[in-house]
Amino acid sequence: MRIFDPHVHMTSRTTDDYERMYAAGVRAVVEPAFWLGQPRTNVGSFLDYFDALLGWEPYRAAQYGIRHHCTLALNPKEANDPRCAGVLDELPRYLLKDSVVAVGEVGYDSVTPEEDRVFEAQLALAEEHGLPVLVHTPHRDKAAGTRRTLDVVKGMDPGVVLVDHLNELTVGMVRDAGCWAGFSIYPDTKMDPDRMVAILKEYGTERMIVNSAADWGRSDVLKTREVGEAMLAAGFTDEDVDRVLWQNPVAFYGQSGRLHLDDVESGGDYEGNTILRGTR
Ligand SMILES: [Zn+2]
Repeated sequence: MRIFDPHVHMTSRTTDDYERMYAAGVRAVVEPAFWLGQPRTNVGSFLDYFDALLGWEPYRAAQYGIRHHCTLALNPKEANDPRCAGVLDELPRYLLKDSVVAVGEVGYDSVTPEEDRVFEAQLALAEEHGLPVLVHTPHRDKAAGTRRTLDVVKGMDPGVVLVDHLNELTVGMVRDAGCWAGFSIYPDTKMDPDRMVAILKEYGTERMIVNSAADWGRSDVLKTREVGEAMLAAGFTDEDVDRVLWQNPVAFYGQSGRLHLDDVESGGDYEGNTILRGTR
């Protein structure tokens, strides 16, 4: 079983996780930029984080045979902090970097006017840079938040929009809109492997994407593999599993023209990702 985890926050995970992921079949990941738990107080704090996603984390992943890409954005939660607004001015030069495969996570957290403004600005940036968009849906009042999200992206090609963290209540409206549907599988909340299989039975495997969304909270980097096994146990074929766990995320992020899935090379000393910073 080959697995592409299209949403996992490896910055908050250990090397044991990389080893377990490789053993389970994970060969590539996308790490979206997100909130780090501790609020950031200035733009430079974001830039160091972006540089880590572009330099240090791919280097770390490569030690374990895993290809690492990222999505960059000002996340919806911190879009509300005026001290972080300058991130939008810095993003354009970061979106040029070769391992950035989408703009994200964008979208809503508490659905404020600031979030509206930052969401719209980042959709425009994605369009300018020819990148797809990873959209986070709020965990509170998910149905209303998802409906509003779909209104905002209505003018866009739905083929470049992945709406994430869906459940039984929100999958239908995202399918109707024609966007890619993302599901985060968690140990004890939101979506689990059996519920995911039931959704795949009802809606099919086209434009369906499954991720672990593992971060510093209670989460599990092997949830993608569990979904694959639950699919096989429920009568799906190997080809179905490959479509959901590999071909679909590759097709979605491949629209960036920047996926590198040749054999991951490991080794070599880490020099630090100083190229972008040196041009400031
Ligand atoms: Zn996330």
